[in-house]
Amino acid sequence: MTDFSKNLKNKLLFPFVAPPNGGKGTQTQILSERYHLPTFDMGSTFRAIMKEGKDPELKAELESYMNNGKLVPIKTVVKVFQKGLEALAADHSEAKGFILDGFPRNQEQADALLELCQHWEAELSKAIYLNVSLDIVKARATGRRFCSENARHVYNVNDECLAPKQQKISPDGSIATDQQGRAIGLCDIDQAELIVRTDDEPQTVEKRLAEYQKETNPLIEHLQEKGYLAEINGEQAPEKVTLAIESLIQPILGLSTAS
Ligand code: AMP
Ligand code: ZN
Repeated sequence: MTDFSKNLKNKLLFPFVAPPNGGKGTQTQILSERYHLPTFDMGSTFRAIMKEGKDPELKAELESYMNNGKLVPIKTVVKVFQKGLEALAADHSEAKGFILDGFPRNQEQADALLELCQHWEAELSKAIYLNVSLDIVKARATGRRFCSENARHVYNVNDECLAPKQQKISPDGSIATDQQGRAIGLCDIDQAELIVRTDDEPQTVEKRLAEYQKETNPLIEHLQEKGYLAEINGEQAPEKVTLAIESLIQPILGLSTAS
């Protein structure tokens, strides 16, 4: 049997921590491509396992936590993380390192990661923490609208630059609203109605944020005390956030910093 754990020897691991809708997905995607650092995304890995449905017991367990915005228990998380990252490393033996998106999310997981790094002889970078205030995160989440015809057409009614240009008009000439009384926008590209994803409904957003505060705030404090945290202002324009992360990771990757 192949020992996949060897594939992580001397690899750099870059954990990213941010509140939900803190811009982590956007940033990790840019950096992953630019520096050839494949991303291990915990949430997507869980969603893929559920979709595959090969392990009905695991699927049911994941569903029961994820549908409530709760963290999956540590044993399962660590097992899926170890197997998933080792497999990713086997597929990308040429990569200098990997981005970790969504792991660790609490102190217990951070300790498990440190242990795994010793086992793998991998090198752990400081966690890159995108600091975004909860008010902004909430506005980003609750303002998000998706085109009902093409989920890649994404808008945000709380951001002037990203708001749809047209609203649906009712037969009486007033602006049409959904059951919650929110104006229904129309897609700029194909004029299809815009919808709110269940994940972005205010109650779900509140639940996810409460869980984040409970689990991840102590993690951030813990990492800060240990000197394992690199904090970045995540409220800046996305390009500035990227630059700030780049000046942090370039020296670690042995690249001279761009100016
Ligand atoms: P995300 O795609 O990062 O929003 O994650 C979606 C859901 O997957 C979360 O709400 C959790 O239920 C679960 N999840 C993702 N990452 C972790 C983790 N590190 N520990 C426990 N549960 C997680
Ligand atoms: Zn559209």
